[in-house]
Amino acid sequence: MNRIERISIFQRTLPLTKPYRLSGGRLLFERLDSTFVKIDTDQGLTGWGEGCPWGHTYLPAHGGGIRAAAELLAPALIGMNPERVEHINGLMDFNLPGHLYAKSPFDIACWDILGQATGLSIADLLGGCYEEPTPIASSISTGSPEEMLQLVQEYRDRGYYMHSVKIGADTELDVERIRYLEAHRRDDELIWYDVNRAWLPAEAIQVMNSVRDLPVIFEQPCETLDECKWVQARTVHAISIDERLETTQDMLRIVQQCIGEIVNVKISRVGGLTRARKLRDIGLAAGIKFIVMDTGGSVIADTAAQHFAQSIPHSSRIATWLCQDMLSVDTAPGSGSRNDSGNSRIPTGANGLGVAPAEDTLGPPVAVYA
Ligand code: MG
Repeated sequence: MNRIERISIFQRTLPLTKPYRLSGGRLLFERLDSTFVKIDTDQGLTGWGEGCPWGHTYLPAHGGGIRAAAELLAPALIGMNPERVEHINGLMDFNLPGHLYAKSPFDIACWDILGQATGLSIADLLGGCYEEPTPIASSISTGSPEEMLQLVQEYRDRGYYMHSVKIGADTELDVERIRYLEAHRRDDELIWYDVNRAWLPAEAIQVMNSVRDLPVIFEQPCETLDECKWVQARTVHAISIDERLETTQDMLRIVQQCIGEIVNVKISRVGGLTRARKLRDIGLAAGIKFIVMDTGGSVIADTAAQHFAQSIPHSSRIATWLCQDMLSVDTAPGSGSRNDSGNSRIPTGANGLGVAPAEDTLGPPVAVYA
């Protein structure tokens, strides 16, 4: 049995290769603040997790928040068995209620250790790995229709055939963006239009009904589940719920009230893999389809999300996203889940996560608990 002997916390700034705008352009991002959690056990195993909010204006989460939470979470976990992931989560909840995103890297590191201890991938531990790879969606920053098509083309050049296109400010221009991109969409491509909560219900209903002839998907059109429900009842398109899915209660509500037929699960937003598993099971039982990714981060976070994605049957899995493809640094060169002609899969032969950061890319730990 493993016991947690030491927890080391690392901070790494991850610069984006180019400035990025979403929610109709009102939010600008140029770099991410990522936190890496390394858990060492008394049996010589080492597990890693990464937590990387998308800046500090996108969700109620910020990089410093993870490291502040670590001051309360890490001491409580010393001496505990990391293989008992439900116990670990219960202990974290007892010591710090809420703050789901801050718990995610600790949870992922424990799953990594559980996998190494059992000789299984995290995808297998989550119920069984489905072998089909996951299509990777691009993330297209808000701009003019022509600028956005240019970005789509850059991703096509890298093999991508799924695109998450960020819209949601000027409603007339949003209609133009959608019509222009759909007119230039290849037959083998899927584009979903991600509003990131930017529309009021009246705006959502207006835009969506003016493109009702196009069979497209809209993601998180409005701020709240109530607003999205209002929109869902007055439009014909498939709706994906993203930012407003955090808890099992949210998932139950989405299912019972038919608010969306798709959900976007971001591992850190929902509090890690242990919690994501519960959302998955509720959603699969209700016929929901899944988009799976993390909020941000390097190949460590991307790979954890990929394990979760491959625990979902291929027919219920739409896409993932690799934040690593938007970064100018790589924390684990040559390893982990990568872009392979627009698809991604878990690392071959992974026990646990199957990837660890090269520590020299992280610098010295900012805190060590033992
Ligand atoms: Mg989204």
